[in-house]
Amino acid sequence: MQPMADQVVTRFAPSPTGRLHLGHAYSALFAWRAARSAGGRFLLRLEDIDEARCDPAFEQGIYDDLAWLGIDWDGPVLRQSERSAAYRAGLDRLEARGLLYPCYCSRKDIRAEVERSGSAPHGPLGAVYPGTCRALSLEERAARQANGEAFALRLNSRRAKALAGAPDWSDRAHGTSKVDPVALGDVVLARKETGTSYHLAVSLDDAYQGVTLVTRGEDLLEATAVHRLLQALLDLPVPEWHHHALLTDDDGKRLAKRDDARAIATLREAGHTPAEVRAMAGFADA
Ligand code: GLU
Ligand code: ZN
Repeated sequence: MQPMADQVVTRFAPSPTGRLHLGHAYSALFAWRAARSAGGRFLLRLEDIDEARCDPAFEQGIYDDLAWLGIDWDGPVLRQSERSAAYRAGLDRLEARGLLYPCYCSRKDIRAEVERSGSAPHGPLGAVYPGTCRALSLEERAARQANGEAFALRLNSRRAKALAGAPDWSDRAHGTSKVDPVALGDVVLARKETGTSYHLAVSLDDAYQGVTLVTRGEDLLEATAVHRLLQALLDLPVPEWHHHALLTDDDGKRLAKRDDARAIATLREAGHTPAEVRAMAGFADA
């Protein structure tokens, strides 16, 4: 699946947890145009890790809606639900470099610890985990594991900084940024019951699929720092990014999945043509 040198490779990566709406159409057209206008490849990936929320009917809806909009994709669809071995291998590599530790805190524990210590540092991703479990002794970890307790695997951000420094990344709309690993906090990369987080899966999948230009909404701008850090720690190729503005409704509010009036299928059933819906999403045909 290696792309040819210099070839632009983009992807659209929806979760099959609802119907696609105009905001998705915008994201998909954005990625598709970026690839096609450069003679590159456009890939489709289903972010279907969260089994409880995913539904095969929504998956079929994604294929139908994209085809109806005139968006074609190259090669087979990649499903995250079939990639658990790759995510495990990624975790093993991080583990081998001493970058992971199990965290047994519940949300309540974290809140209590933040209150107790009187400081609640905020990073780009929100409240920073206070690091309680970083200091657990090996004996304590072994005992809690033997107990079968639920845990999250967190990235030790200080060690990440020691190993990777502060890598930078470049966005076509937002310029160059530097990652501050410690400011991100010790982000969760997997849980006992879910073998990966969004951050780990996206970083490994974009590399595996040979994506050279990651396009997605500005709501994920902050998450990119984590992805860039993981690329550095896992020695993955570094793509370019282009975070685009989010499509909003007439009141300026972000479109949500529950906003069914703007679902592609609803617009189709109401008699709109693909060209009309592309125009509604801001992509008038040339
Ligand atoms: N599944 C994510 C979403 O629907 C995709 C994020 C990404 O493009 O990295 O928001
Ligand atoms: Zn903890």
